[in-house]
Amino acid sequence: MYESDYVRSDALFQDIIRHSGNPLLADRASAMLLSQLGLTRHYTEAFELANRLAARLPEVTDTKVRFSLLLNLSQSLGLAGQTDLAVRYARMAMADAAAGEEACFSASSLVQALSSGHRLKPASPELQQAVDVCSAAKVPVYSADLQLTLADLYLREGQPRKALALLDQVASEINANGYTPNKLAALVCRAQALAAIGDDDDARTAALVVIAAGPSGDFGVWLKDIYEVLYHIEKKQGHTAAALDYYEKYATLDKAYLDDVNARAMAYQTVQQHVLAQKLETESLSRQNALLRMRQTLDAKTAETNRLYLALLLMVLISVVLWMFRLKRSQLRFKKLSHQDGLTAIFNRQHFMSEVERSLRLLERRAGTACLVFIDLDHFKHINDTHGHAMGDEVLRQVVMASKQHLRPVDLFGRLGGEEFGILLVDCTRAQGMAIADRIRLAVEATVVECEGVTIAISTSVGLAFTDTYGYDLQRLCCEADAALYRAKRGGRNRVAADVECGIPAEA
Ligand code: GH3
Ligand code: MG
Ligand code: MG
Repeated sequence: MYESDYVRSDALFQDIIRHSGNPLLADRASAMLLSQLGLTRHYTEAFELANRLAARLPEVTDTKVRFSLLLNLSQSLGLAGQTDLAVRYARMAMADAAAGEEACFSASSLVQALSSGHRLKPASPELQQAVDVCSAAKVPVYSADLQLTLADLYLREGQPRKALALLDQVASEINANGYTPNKLAALVCRAQALAAIGDDDDARTAALVVIAAGPSGDFGVWLKDIYEVLYHIEKKQGHTAAALDYYEKYATLDKAYLDDVNARAMAYQTVQQHVLAQKLETESLSRQNALLRMRQTLDAKTAETNRLYLALLLMVLISVVLWMFRLKRSQLRFKKLSHQDGLTAIFNRQHFMSEVERSLRLLERRAGTACLVFIDLDHFKHINDTHGHAMGDEVLRQVVMASKQHLRPVDLFGRLGGEEFGILLVDCTRAQGMAIADRIRLAVEATVVECEGVTIAISTSVGLAFTDTYGYDLQRLCCEADAALYRAKRGGRNRVAADVECGIPAEA
């Protein structure tokens, strides 16, 4: 870079920035590349890099690297015509600067920023401060440059003699440091000052020395000023052809200079617009993301609420079903209980009668046969009296169990009250009925219920009535079965008596 081999230095800087893996080195290379991009008039890249480096500044902790970044940022923004920013970075550099060279460099960069923004006066304290720190730090090139800036300011303020006096004062210093740009700048200023006081010949001589030195690059701007001086001198002296020639050269350089100023401003604005567009895009994206996140959260919450509602509904549904199931079960249990005899668990009188009635209706329709059997335990009162009521109950249960052994599932069995029972033998002939009744009688007789080691003697009397004799009328059948039972009792108990068939009572 210092040898102006910018193509190679550019490649090397980029390589360090991208591949060194060392942030410190990358930042140093970036600071220098920034300066180089300004020198080589790659303004767009320069301002893009400046933006990136400005954003990185808070992370740069190395004081030297940060200092050089601040100086180069100030210089770049000065180039862009952004005086406020250039001044700000220069002041930041001054705040960070160590005494000596760094203090001189940063104070000079502040002067440069103010000068390029036309905010500097000969009496500006910033200029005086820079002169002081640079002379204290013994940086002759910078000291001379600051004096030349002051001389230039005198000139602009219409004080060419003051400018010339200052130039005379620093001449030996400039000669001593041997820095060509200082020398040429001094000559340009001198030519301008001499022309301003009307010393055309000396002005021309000084101007021609500058032209002979053939400044190029950034220093080309001096040629513009020199040609302007020469143009005015030749014009004043009536050398029209020479004046025109200088004017053309001046105009060409002035245009190039203005084009360059414009190019810098344009490049800066383009980069800023680009950054702004990116920022807006990022903001809009982040807004969209936030919206999306909000929507997702909302969806999740809605889903959760829906799940809760569903769970609640399910619970209510299950409770209702469970409740209905229990209700139905207890209803069925109550219904069953209301049909049952509490002691023996067979039908109670009411249910037995209604079931018999229903069966008779069905049998009547299909002309089936049935036999109604009435059972009454013999001398049951005596059992109760002898062995107690509880034993009587046990006898009743045992009698029921024994009787059941001889019945089919289709037969109806109920307790009519006390020790009396009724049976309807369905689809049963007279002979079958008599046989079953007798088997029940025998089973009851054989039932063994012991009380305190003594077997209780049990027997029963049975009365039958048949549908083929009396038809399907329940009352009539009951009457006849009761009458048959009465006959069995009268006949001596522990026996079966049937209805009167053709006037002959049947007995077993
Ligand atoms: P009979 O041979 O003439 O039928 O004589 P009986 O003693 O069986 O006559 P009765 O019908 O007068 O007696 C029935 C007795 O049954 C009267 C009552 O004390 C008894 N009894 C009625 N219900 C129950 C009951 O639920 N449990 C018990 N242990 N006894 C009952
Ligand atoms: Mg009785
Ligand atoms: Mg009895």
